[in-house]
Amino acid sequence: MLEIKNLHAKIEDGAEILKGINLEIKPGEVHAIMGPNGAGKSTLSSVIAGKEDYEVTDGEILFEGEDIREDAPEERAHKGIFLSFQYPVEIPGVSVTNFIKAALNETRKANGLEEMPAKEMLAMIRDKSEKLGIKKDFLSRSLNEGFSGGEKKRNEIFQMMMLNPKLAILDETDSGLDIDALRIVADGVNYFKNEGNAVLLITHYQRLLNYIQPDFVHVLANGKIIKTGDKSLALELEEKGYDWLLN
Ligand code: ADP
Ligand code: MG
Ligand code: MG
Repeated sequence: MLEIKNLHAKIEDGAEILKGINLEIKPGEVHAIMGPNGAGKSTLSSVIAGKEDYEVTDGEILFEGEDIREDAPEERAHKGIFLSFQYPVEIPGVSVTNFIKAALNETRKANGLEEMPAKEMLAMIRDKSEKLGIKKDFLSRSLNEGFSGGEKKRNEIFQMMMLNPKLAILDETDSGLDIDALRIVADGVNYFKNEGNAVLLITHYQRLLNYIQPDFVHVLANGKIIKTGDKSLALELEEKGYDWLLN
């Protein structure tokens, strides 16, 4: 699904941050990326999603076999790449529901599909929101306006479930991720996950991996993946930290 080869990237007119990343994600897999602060984890997720502040200087990013390096973030989203925090804006007067309806129909349109019939849309919203324990009044609130940390998480995961991407990239940067928010993310991912899609989960927190079973755990440090293992690697990191890997 996703194939990253020797990826180098820098901040626009800045230093190189990604220094030769290799990563292959197949359908059905959950990959976790861990690593010290400043390693380049968020940069990697931004570069995959196509955020404009970064410049790819070498290497390849293939999504379903296609080079996506020149695609705008919207095009990548339409192809099925979802990044959490992709829509962090507050939009007064636009409800959670209306925003996701518009986003979903836009994606459908970009893929040559008709708008989803209102009834079907409503049923889907009801189904997904129930699965996430989202209440009706939340759905009619203005997007992100005055949302608590947990509500932002819930909205993000709701967006992921509604848009049903092929590849979901979740960058759990928020150091304030409390146990409730962890649960929201974990339950959402576990519900979303199937044999046809994939998840790239970026986290500082081993704890999250107690609730989500990763197939692979990668350690990113200083712009490179310096170690790959299975879930036991996350446990080892929790116990020993990162220093033993950094020499
Ligand atoms: P991580 O998510 O692993 O903590 P980041 O990808 O956020 O790491 O950052 C990697 C390095 O790149 C850090 O040194 C950070 O300061 C720098 N960096 C990332 N994005 C920017 C940016 N937009 N402008 C300036 N420096 C940045
Ligand atoms: Mg950071
Ligand atoms: Mg980060």
